[in-house]
Amino acid sequence: MAVLQRHEAWNPVALRAHQDLADWAGLDLAPRVGGAAWGASDMARLFRECGRRDVELRDLIGAGHARLLALAATRRFDPVLSAVAKSAAYCAIAITEPDAGSDLRALATAARPVDRGYVLDGIKQYISRISECTHFIVFAAVQRVAQEPSISAFLVPRDAPGLATEAMRPSGLATVSWGRVHLRRTRVPIAARIGGEGEGFSLFRHHFCYWRTMIAAVAIGSAQAAIDQTAGWMKSRHVFGAPIGRFSHLQQTMAHWIARLRMAWLLAESVAEQIDNRVWPVADAAMLKAEAIEAALGATEWAMTVFGGAGYDTATGLEKRYRDLLGLRIADGTSDVLRSQVARAFLGERLYDLSMSRAPSDGRASDSQSRRFW
Ligand SMILES: Cc1cc2nc3c(=O)[nH]c(=O)nc-3n(C[C@H](O)[C@H](O)[C@H](O)COP(=O)(O)OP(=O)(O)OC[C@H]3O[C@@H](n4cnc5c(N)ncnc54)[C@H](O)[C@@H]3O)c2cc1C
Repeated sequence: MAVLQRHEAWNPVALRAHQDLADWAGLDLAPRVGGAAWGASDMARLFRECGRRDVELRDLIGAGHARLLALAATRRFDPVLSAVAKSAAYCAIAITEPDAGSDLRALATAARPVDRGYVLDGIKQYISRISECTHFIVFAAVQRVAQEPSISAFLVPRDAPGLATEAMRPSGLATVSWGRVHLRRTRVPIAARIGGEGEGFSLFRHHFCYWRTMIAAVAIGSAQAAIDQTAGWMKSRHVFGAPIGRFSHLQQTMAHWIARLRMAWLLAESVAEQIDNRVWPVADAAMLKAEAIEAALGATEWAMTVFGGAGYDTATGLEKRYRDLLGLRIADGTSDVLRSQVARAFLGERLYDLSMSRAPSDGRASDSQSRRFW
């Protein structure tokens, strides 16, 4: 962390190449590509530590979205993963579009099959790290004549012909770039397709099961640090002749947030352990990300209030934590959407389909699914 103190205007993705941090990028990659094969449990603890200092440090450790490449049953992405492990490459992920965010099925970016490859056309937006990355993992709908479009993922170099980026201005999480990616007749070879045609949903589910767990850990760490800071303030800030920590409403509310953050962390440990045991608890990870971030936001907002005017002063650091957490509430699946996934796992497909304005499917799964949570 001394490196960060020497770099006041730090950019976490750029800092990955710093010699003092050289081993961090490959922590959660396989040894065959130069990684250290840390499991999800160890990574979650490290992400939580990053969050304690600054949510934006989540981009400093591990392979980030490049881990999705390792889910494909092939070694042809190993050179890119090796470069990621050496901090010589970085993968951004491009899913969201002007007319499709939460609804992956609505993606309009088209992948048109051509001789030995595909031509990509479309616009992605709200994409993080558009300037720092060397590659984009682009989700697009493969369009074959007389077939339903099938969502697939492609690895596209940032300098591919027809690919252009356009900056947008985020409210928080601003140490890295953010914006739109335009794909105009961008040709990629078949080898750029990650997994088979139509495997986009499966890759998405598996990758975000892990990534949402890490993001939850970051959020928990950030809010725990805010509560620690507030505990110090409750002891040192005197009003009407005594410390504000004597007020029972502050003690009670602090206990509430400590408990919610602790419960979220225990769930994070459970989800990470399942991932380490090669189980993909998709609904648990959705529940974790939604509840951890909502608890972190609530705790941080409360901390700002306890600090009074000082909480509104940027020098206290709480408003930055709050703004960054608001970004995490939306990125990688909004809390609403993740809660709808939990309800889906509990209630079964029929009510979920109805909520999605789709023809209801058979709801046989309801009972067995609901017991899974208890
Ligand atoms: C800081 C930040 C970083 C991001 N980074 C990336 C990135 O790197 N790559 C990328 O592809 N995208 C990225 N995004 C985009 C993000 O993933 C989307 O914004 C998010 O998935 C929501 O999509 P949307 O904006 O289209 O909202 P919409 O899908 O239009 O949703 C609008 C509102 O409706 C609610 N809603 C939608 N569906 C349901 C439902 N089924 N049940 C209940 N409520 C629902 C949502 O919760 C939301 O409040 C980022 C966003 C932010 C804020």
